[in-house]
Amino acid sequence: MVPIAIRRWWGTAVITAILVGLAGFGIVLSVSAFRIYRQNAGVDTHELRNWPESLRGDRILVFAPHCDDETLGVSGVIQRAVRAGADVRVVFMTNGDGFPYAVQRQYRRLRPRPADFIRFGKVRQREAVAALHTMGVRPEQIVFLGYPDRGLAELWLNHWNPWNAYVSFSTGHSRSPYEDSYTPQAVYCGRSVLSDVQRLFRDFQPTVVYCPHPSDNHSDHWATYTFVTLAVSGQYNPGALGAIPRQSPYPCAVGLYLVHRGDWPVPQGEHVSRDLAPPSSLLGLDTTWSRFQLTDEEVDAKRRAIACYRSQLRVMKRFLTSFHRRAELIGTRGTAELREAPAGIVVDGFDRDWQNLPVSIPDPREDSLPVDVGGSADITSLRACRDNKRLCFLLTTRKPLNKAVAYRIYWRGDPDDTGKTRSITLKNRKATAANAISDQEGAVWEASVPLPDTPYVFIGADTRYRGYVVDKVGWKLLVN
Ligand SMILES: [Zn+2]
Repeated sequence: MVPIAIRRWWGTAVITAILVGLAGFGIVLSVSAFRIYRQNAGVDTHELRNWPESLRGDRILVFAPHCDDETLGVSGVIQRAVRAGADVRVVFMTNGDGFPYAVQRQYRRLRPRPADFIRFGKVRQREAVAALHTMGVRPEQIVFLGYPDRGLAELWLNHWNPWNAYVSFSTGHSRSPYEDSYTPQAVYCGRSVLSDVQRLFRDFQPTVVYCPHPSDNHSDHWATYTFVTLAVSGQYNPGALGAIPRQSPYPCAVGLYLVHRGDWPVPQGEHVSRDLAPPSSLLGLDTTWSRFQLTDEEVDAKRRAIACYRSQLRVMKRFLTSFHRRAELIGTRGTAELREAPAGIVVDGFDRDWQNLPVSIPDPREDSLPVDVGGSADITSLRACRDNKRLCFLLTTRKPLNKAVAYRIYWRGDPDDTGKTRSITLKNRKATAANAISDQEGAVWEASVPLPDTPYVFIGADTRYRGYVVDKVGWKLLVN
């Protein structure tokens, strides 16, 4: 039997070790958070050019994943466009009905029921109508698509077809339960979303489109980018094989706004006189950032619009009011090409044969979660090119690949009847995908799959550790 004194000593030692460990983890977290904060706070906005104003006759189409994103991202842009006599449409992808904490607070109920989430979605719709009213946008200029909050990426990646509909974790529905949805009872699948977005483009013929930036951390935000980009390109048309237009039928400008990106905007909270700078990690990559300067009246109207979102202010006032500033940020991202490798690609895990091929998607270093598995889950770039009948990829990470991390590359291009997103995963040094060739070496993963016979490929990548996404690149459409 162990004497009581020794057991006590052991107990104290174990507890002390745990506390020291936790404190150490806390220090690492705060040091990395502070470093990012300092980098972000140091970004100079003087270099940014001014985003052009809308003119009379312009047709402005704004896509917002949730009721409030249009206000946070482009309230000033919308106000100026309305005043200039441009026609404006604001489209809400979801009604924000998947935010359990906000619903708990709204109805003072620990376990909200599906009906509470739907009721909450209707509250957010009314807040959106009120917020847009302060910007001069009338209810008939607002479109609610009614797709599931926190479900858009699932529809894009895993639930493309109506026979494989997604079930909302909050409302329990696999079709829109809202009577005012653009397509009544819209099925929760990627195909329905794309078809709604395409119909909006056809009917409204926009000259300028605003949607979230693909590097936004919120999955509904980057997924909205993918649906809008596919519709803009006009190149997804399963009914017209062989007659797919190479050029976009919609010669419109696309402005990208950012809402969720870690410790951003800096500093958080209401700082009306402050400018708004892009996160330092997104500078010098593939986005050109512009600034839209607001007038005093526009700044004030933006404050009143934010104030309409009471259900959101109740739970994240500091975040929402961070956007009440003198400027808004708009990014643009050019189209890229799917280049042909001049001497072919040998899939061997080495990047020698990629030397003259451009990076398709650069990704910031050290932008993954603190638990980035020692840098092994931190993606630094994704390249794609075409070879003789093969679509080839090269993914690089900051530190050598780790067996415990799942690396995934996504692509879509097949306009066949399934039309869904395809992927290849590397885990435990083994790759999984039909007809794929794969090899890895150090911090490089190289793979190839059969080349889709389409005028474009849309590519993306992410890393997961224990099922959680640690890092992801911003999806990009490459013209073939
Ligand atoms: Zn949002």
